[in-house]
This record gives sequence, structure tokens and C-alpha cells, in this order.
Amino acid sequence: MDCIEKEKKLIPQVYRRQNVVFERGEGCYLFDTSGKRYLDLVAGIATVAIGHSNPEFIARVGEQLKKLVHVSNLYYTVPQIELAEKLRKITEMDRFFFCNSGTEAVEASLKFARKATGRKKFVAFTNCFHGRTMGALSVTYKEKFRKPFEPLVQPVEFAKFNDVQDLERKVDGNTAAVILELIQGEAGVYPADTDFIKAIFELKEKYGYLVIIDEVQTGFGRTGRWFAKEHYGVEPDIMAMAKAMGSGFPIGCSAISEEVAGRLERGDHGSTFGGNPLACAASLATIEIIEKHKLVENSEKMGEYFMRRLKEIFSEVRGRGLMIGVRVQNAEEIVKRALERGLVLNATSEDNLRLVPPLVIGKAEVDLAVEILAEIHG
Ligand SMILES: *Cc1c(COP(=O)(O)O)cnc(C)c1O
Repeated sequence: MDCIEKEKKLIPQVYRRQNVVFERGEGCYLFDTSGKRYLDLVAGIATVAIGHSNPEFIARVGEQLKKLVHVSNLYYTVPQIELAEKLRKITEMDRFFFCNSGTEAVEASLKFARKATGRKKFVAFTNCFHGRTMGALSVTYKEKFRKPFEPLVQPVEFAKFNDVQDLERKVDGNTAAVILELIQGEAGVYPADTDFIKAIFELKEKYGYLVIIDEVQTGFGRTGRWFAKEHYGVEPDIMAMAKAMGSGFPIGCSAISEEVAGRLERGDHGSTFGGNPLACAASLATIEIIEKHKLVENSEKMGEYFMRRLKEIFSEVRGRGLMIGVRVQNAEEIVKRALERGLVLNATSEDNLRLVPPLVIGKAEVDLAVEILAEIHG
């Protein structure tokens, strides 16, 4: 079967794909249909936290698969409640609405913010990314993503990221919520300044808006903490999660405060698949494997080591933990040449690489990646 040729006829051409067909994975490595091995620094876009084909994950998800996959939220199921209890401990949020993706987690978060405040306006930031469905798209910065689908949700204002003065101009007493990534991911890994985050929370006191932190990409150990909010010492009213939450199994969540939960009524939101037993078992297994193998600590340690080694080659290296951005020239060209040499990379723009490997990565893999990058760059 010529997968690549058939894809061009069968799939809407909305994706820019690399010229490779992956067949299986193992830890930090992927294998294509010819059996060639690749070191994976993309991890399904910051998603496969515990590594490919993790045997403990397979066993745990397999057990649930045999028992029960799905019944809907017309009924109670144990895995959903076990996952919520676990999330309460690691997120310090109060209540958990389950869905199936990042954009759905943002969608729920926006609806909850409007319902809880009775206000309409959202403030987001330049270069932010929050998803592709109509609501999430409305608070996503890139004009190219938004324009063809207007009219979108209004009113939305974009303030300059890391610019306190511009923030002051954009928020007011009609603002339902400010939504932000603490480290902008799709933009190429750009962390928020501490003072900027402080200002968002100070102005919240003045105007009474809610703060939605989008931890879809930064969550579950990616930045060397369970959640990026720990780096800043802040507690949002609403937090969106997805990507690594099920280590590749689709699941998302909008975590909310008790106060926000108190404003919601039956029928305000819902999902057929959200919080199904299989997805919840996959997420619970992911979290417990991260805990057991101390992968949050590994993310911090390997992230520091990786960034130090990358600085030997590149002049601009940004990030936290294993969420790393590198300024380069000809990013697309580097991605192609790396792929030929068995290294999987992602370019977020023509001048930026994003490195988000599985959190199980070790020193030997970092060294291998650096060696290949030095060869290409040198
Ligand atoms: C990936 C991402 C989303 C969207 O998640 P999907 O699962 O692709 O819908 C939303 N917010 C952030 C910060 C993301 O990185």
C-alpha cells in the first residue's frame, strides 16, 4: 500500500506532513515501515510523556479495555472518579470536567467563565494558541487560522504578551476571563515574565475577571513541574489540560475552582465520550507512571542538561524542563535533514525548532540528539 500517495486522495490536505510513515514505537524511539529507527523529540506534539509502547501503560489500559470502554455520562463509573481524585492532588484545583482534546478543554473553560461571571469579553495574547474549534479559535492569535472562519466569538481582545501596559488597556469590568499559556507552545516556546503574570492576578482583584490558564501543552511534567503554574506560584480559576494527560490516548479536562463550579447547572455543558472509563484509566495510568518513575524530576534534570548542551551549538535556546525552543535558520531544512539521520524534530516557524521529547529521555539520547544537530548545523 502506498500510504503517502493514498493520503493525498483520501485525507483533506490541511496538514503539512514529513515524508515518513511510522509504524511502531518504543520508549523515545519510533520505527518506520522499513524498520528504520528514529529518536523522537516531538512525542506526538508534547503528548507521549511516558514513552511509546510503555509496558505498564499497555497492561493498565488493556485491563480496562477488557472490562468496560464506554457508557456515557448518564451513569457513574469508577475510573472517572479515581482520576478526578488524583487530579485534585496534583493540580490543587477543585472540580474536573472531562472531554477529549485540548480545544474542547478550552471550549469548556470559556463557557464556564461566561456562565460564572455573566460577562462576555475574553482577553487573550499575541502569538497565543488555544485550539481550532470556533470558541478556542476566537481566542487564538494567528490571523491566518481565524480569518476564513469569521464571524467568531466576540468580543475578544488581544493584548501584547509580556506587556503589562497593554494588558491594563485591554482588561475592564466587562472582561469575563483572561486566557493565557504560561509558556507559549505553538508560538515556539516563549515563557511569560513573572511580573506580567503578577499583573494579570493584580488586575483580576480590581476587575473581578477569571483567569484561565491553558496548560494543555505545559501540563503533566513537561516543564519540570507537574504544571507550569507552579513556576509562577499562581492559582487560576480555570485550567485547561490535554496533550500528555493520557500519554497519547485522547483525553482533556477543564479543571475549575469550587466557586466557578457553584455557578454551573445541569445541562450547561456535556460530552458523550468525555470521561469515559478507558480514557480515564489511560490518564490515571499515565499519572501514576509519571509519579513512580519520577518523570517530573527527570524532565527538570534532563531539560537543564539538554539546554546546556544545545547552547554549545545554538545562540538562542529557551524553555523550561523538556519544553525547549531553539532559534535556527532554515528550520524546515533542518527538520528534513534530521529525519534522514534518524532524528524527529518539529519546526514551529521558519526560524524556530521546538523540542518536546518523551519525559523518559535519558542522557544518552540527549547526547545522540545533540551530536546529530551539531552535524547538521556545523
Ligand atoms: C495543542 C494545544 C491546544 C489544542 O489542543 P488539541 O488537542 O489539538 O485540540 C490548546 N492549547 C494549547 C496551549 C495547545 O498547545
